[in-house]
Amino acid sequence: MNNIGPSPDEAALGDATADAIAVGGGLAGSAFALELARHGASVMIFERSGGPHHKVCGEFLSDKAQALLHYVGVDVHALGGSSIDTLCLANGSNQASARLPFKAAGVSRFLLDEAVTKAAERAGAKIFRGTWVGGIEDIGGRVRVRTARGNFECREAALASGKHNIRGLPRPDGPMVGFKMHLRPAEAARTALTGVVHLIAFAGGYLGLCMVEDQTLSIAWNIDSDVLQFVGTSWADQSAYFAVQSRIFAELTNGATPAWEKPLAVSGLPYGFMRSATIAPAIYPVGDQLAVIPSFSGDGTALALASGIAAAQAVLRCESATDFQARMLANFKPQFSRTAALDRVIAGALLRRVGIAGARLFPGMVTTLVSATRLRGLDGLIASPKARN
Ligand SMILES: Cc1cc2nc3c(=O)[nH]c(=O)nc-3n(C[C@H](O)[C@H](O)[C@H](O)COP(=O)(O)OP(=O)(O)OC[C@H]3O[C@@H](n4cnc5c(N)ncnc54)[C@H](O)[C@@H]3O)c2cc1C
Repeated sequence: MNNIGPSPDEAALGDATADAIAVGGGLAGSAFALELARHGASVMIFERSGGPHHKVCGEFLSDKAQALLHYVGVDVHALGGSSIDTLCLANGSNQASARLPFKAAGVSRFLLDEAVTKAAERAGAKIFRGTWVGGIEDIGGRVRVRTARGNFECREAALASGKHNIRGLPRPDGPMVGFKMHLRPAEAARTALTGVVHLIAFAGGYLGLCMVEDQTLSIAWNIDSDVLQFVGTSWADQSAYFAVQSRIFAELTNGATPAWEKPLAVSGLPYGFMRSATIAPAIYPVGDQLAVIPSFSGDGTALALASGIAAAQAVLRCESATDFQARMLANFKPQFSRTAALDRVIAGALLRRVGIAGARLFPGMVTTLVSATRLRGLDGLIASPKARN
């Protein structure tokens, strides 16, 4: 992950004040700020990176994610995103494909996060980049946000630091390491990549591949940290390992040119985590700081956007963070249970083989399973009577 750290420019932030602060300017933090700003609140976003940056993410956007993006005023196709309508599952040399139950899209987080942040700025939120937050705490009914550029107080704050924890607010460490790489695929592989999201299992994890803007192939994968020690962390080492494990991966990436020197990485991913404990009544955890859905579901971005918008609406109607968290997590629970069950199928060699054989015989079952693991109840958020377009 690009971590540009604190900016030397101390002057710009000065003694700025706001009703609310988003700690982190990813999708969840920007959506929170945008929704509040749209309703007349003053909001600041503190983002540690100095500018647009790439992130570990498969860059697959479900229909829900696209609907939420539309709500915040971002059209993924106007950003040059690809269209995806087919899911291809592979294990070893076996594969099965099925129609997705919706039209998905692929767009890089580099473009997407910047588009949402800009939309928040247009709505009136102020973004302070290169502003690293070191702490966030309740100070008797108000919230203090400590940054390398001074301390700031506000009425409410969103904890939106995503994959990175703020000191004093840990999440449990998981065994998986997440990676992301961009490639320019060879002409021969384009047909098999166009319109398709590939989910490829290997011993120790799984890969997701889809096309994003500018004919770029985005590959994200999760790999067990013990397996990673044995394989090596470079793209050359890991791609060689995947190619031995999967003929399909080898074919799709044959002749491709890496767009970066090395993949981005993030470790300790706490898949299945749900923050049920309240931090403080006015500190609202959102996105990956609220709940981390296994990445193969392709719904993490929808969760981030939905929880950011919902937290802002909770603030607007004076719902405490405690009630907000309980409501959101009760909503997510059924989907988290189903994705956890599928995660066990992906992790077990025998179950994987049986799963692919079943998927080849009954592709409709895959389409149904994809539907069953979608996050529910998000439509209520975007139909809120308080919403303005
Ligand atoms: C391998 C992998 C593949 C995935 N694939 C998909 C997919 O295909 N589709 C999908 O929908 N989801 C996917 N996800 C999930 C998705 O990436 C996340 O759920 C989503 O990014 C969460 O958004 P967020 O806004 O909560 O956090 P983030 O996107 O992580 O944003 C957090 C922001 O906070 C900033 N920040 C962090 N710490 C600080 C600090 N101390 N001070 C100030 N700023 C800070 C960061 O710089 C960052 O900009 C995947 C995840 C992984 C790991």
